[in-house]
Amino acid sequence: MAIELAPLPYDRAALAPHLSAETVDLHHGQHQRALVERLNAQLAGSEFADLPLPDLVRRTQGRLFQHASEVWNHAFYWQGLRPRGGGEPGGALGERIAKNFGDVARFKAEFERMALAVFGSGWVWLVQRPDTTLALIATANAGSPLTGEDTPLLACDLWEHAYCIDYRSDRARYLEAFWKLVNWEFVAANMR
Ligand code: FE
Repeated sequence: MAIELAPLPYDRAALAPHLSAETVDLHHGQHQRALVERLNAQLAGSEFADLPLPDLVRRTQGRLFQHASEVWNHAFYWQGLRPRGGGEPGGALGERIAKNFGDVARFKAEFERMALAVFGSGWVWLVQRPDTTLALIATANAGSPLTGEDTPLLACDLWEHAYCIDYRSDRARYLEAFWKLVNWEFVAANMR
């Protein structure tokens, strides 16, 4: 059972001007597609060939894990964005963020501080801990919350391919744009 490239939940140009069609083509159309192809090449004939993607992330290591995890992370990343996204998280999510971080502005500032502190490639995540509190974590390279007990709610890709075209590798400007695209309804729907 081959892993398939998860289609974008919107048109490739729909995140402009915050993320251009050129970036989306590079990131989803080339990078993520290549990860899927390389993952399938490694899976062919292996003992893991029939596992669904989240189980591959949890149960493999090394190169296989790196590819499986990056394929899952990217599909999750795109779902956390949407055209005309952004604004403020409302309802139960807004209340949980206020309770855990003080207010939305402080939550965003902490998210950005962690994102800027990631050296090289990685991800920053809003997660729900098993005790239901919300937390921010950073993972290096292909790391993913799926390998632990936290439930991922929102991901921000910090690999340079996410922002080298649109923001000349300026991560801080990319993060400003990221907030204008966040799909808070998706984030809220991931809470348990
Ligand atoms: Fe990426």
